[in-house]
Amino acid sequence: MIPPFVYTASPARVIFGSGTLARLPEEVARLGLSRVLVLATPQQAAEAQILAGRIGAAAAGTFAEAAMHTPTEVTERALAVVTRDNIDGLVAVGGGSTTGLAKALALRTDLPQVVASTTYAGSEMTTILGETHAGRKTTLTSPKVLPEVVIYDVDLTLTLPRALSVTSGMNAIAHAVEALYARERNPVITLLAEEGTAALARALPVIVRTPADAGARSDALYGAWLCGICLGSVGMALHHKLCHTLGGTFNLPHSETHTAVLPHAVAYNATVEPDAMRRIAGAIGKKDAATGLFDLASGLGARMALRDLGMPESGIEEAADLTLQNPYWNPRPLEKDAIRALLRAAWSGQRPDEQGL
Ligand code: NAD
Repeated sequence: MIPPFVYTASPARVIFGSGTLARLPEEVARLGLSRVLVLATPQQAAEAQILAGRIGAAAAGTFAEAAMHTPTEVTERALAVVTRDNIDGLVAVGGGSTTGLAKALALRTDLPQVVASTTYAGSEMTTILGETHAGRKTTLTSPKVLPEVVIYDVDLTLTLPRALSVTSGMNAIAHAVEALYARERNPVITLLAEEGTAALARALPVIVRTPADAGARSDALYGAWLCGICLGSVGMALHHKLCHTLGGTFNLPHSETHTAVLPHAVAYNATVEPDAMRRIAGAIGKKDAATGLFDLASGLGARMALRDLGMPESGIEEAADLTLQNPYWNPRPLEKDAIRALLRAAWSGQRPDEQGL
């Protein structure tokens, strides 16, 4: 029997394939834009220039200062350029950091956005925006920040380094995993979550061996898109709360933190969500969800210990306190001792079945 559910879809135009970036000028014209600003990180400044060249007369310039966790001072600088140059639209080329800058600008200006995604983070599919001001990261939700057009060009992902491909892929899988046990779970999102996880789980090992494998890159980007829809459609639980807390408090790298925490968050919820666990294990082709996720990521060379990502041991207690302070809904109630044990296991990089949560 299908339990009752509510399903809300986010409007978005998605263009997927190899070479799809060639459609960018057409999409800019379709939105009626004549002065777009092309956004990127400093590392992808050259891509922004190339894109501006392709857009031609409708490109007013580039701004290549996007940074992780969307610092408001960067947004303010970009906003000054938007005003000065009479910008009427935004084009982002990059991962979650660049998309975050586009979304922060759209929140303040309502300008339309075309996002060309180059990682598996999935931000382009959500109405969520995290921003950092004076060292504190806060998250908001607004339909204003949802990009109008998303271009997934598989060719753009061929350069994503091996290690980042793995952790970004695990970041995407984390969205799907938590969608499977979300309070707002529904049959459509469950299908997308299983399909997205399976596509990434079969693609990542091939990408680690052959980063330019076009088929595996296509599967991974397709999976990332589906996982992004999951993140944008239902509420997230303990795992995302932990990563948000750890990232904000100890300035840990985003996708790497997701990778190290996910098996332990899943282990925490395992006993109360057997159906979700069966679906996760099935999608990754393993017997058990929590250990399977750990083995998948560690087998692909990911660092599984938060201590190796820069978290101090003394931070375990603080992170446990913060997680319990404004908790997200979670299928298993949050118990301080068990959360502390979870954090310790993730901090030391233990395989989850050894911790006895
Ligand atoms: P990122 O955007 O910070 O990219 C990491 C680095 O890799 C950057 O230097 C970038 O320029 C480079 N890079 C990206 N794609 C590349 C490619 N194809 N080839 C070579 N280099 C490439 O990393 P991310 O993990 O995509 O994004 C993390 C940020 O996104 C965090 O701030 C996180 O909070 C946010 N995020 C937000 C949401 C949301 O829904 N709001 C969802 C997921 C992530």
